[in-house]
Amino acid sequence: MENDSEVLEGQPCPVCGKNSLTLREMSREIPFFGLCYIFSMDCNECDYHMADVETDSNNNEPVKYTLEIESENDLNIKVVKSSQATVRIPRLADISPGPMSSGYITNVEGILSRIKNVIEAKKDDEDPAIRRKAKNQLKKIQRVLWGREKITLVIEDPTGNSAIISDKAKKG
Ligand SMILES: [Zn+2]
Repeated sequence: MENDSEVLEGQPCPVCGKNSLTLREMSREIPFFGLCYIFSMDCNECDYHMADVETDSNNNEPVKYTLEIESENDLNIKVVKSSQATVRIPRLADISPGPMSSGYITNVEGILSRIKNVIEAKKDDEDPAIRRKAKNQLKKIQRVLWGREKITLVIEDPTGNSAIISDKAKKG
């Protein structure tokens, strides 16, 4: 699955400035989609970490994918999410691009787990209204993970480097 891995060690870190950064680049063939390039940076000194993905297409136009998640099978659908992508589940949650937002290749279940982790952090908020909302959101995500509730997943990427890889996903 993985090939052409390249590693550069001892590079300058953009955060701490020491020559302790490891750069990794690899390409990966995704069935029914094409080649993806995965980049990552890890600093041994300050724990700085960044990762991103790029697709091997000439399409740098903005993309928008919408997927109805209806069953447990849909949890296995592959997702490419670049650092510039916004992931939305209407009326439930958003992941916005930002300096801490990484790019990665995952599946629908992986996206839901990440959203779950973000919401879980709010379960202990001082504000009871936020705590209550977080609990309801977690219940809903759990029902989706069990295949008992349907939701819509939307991924928008102004750089065109993200995708939901399924015939079920609507593009545009
Ligand atoms: Zn560093």
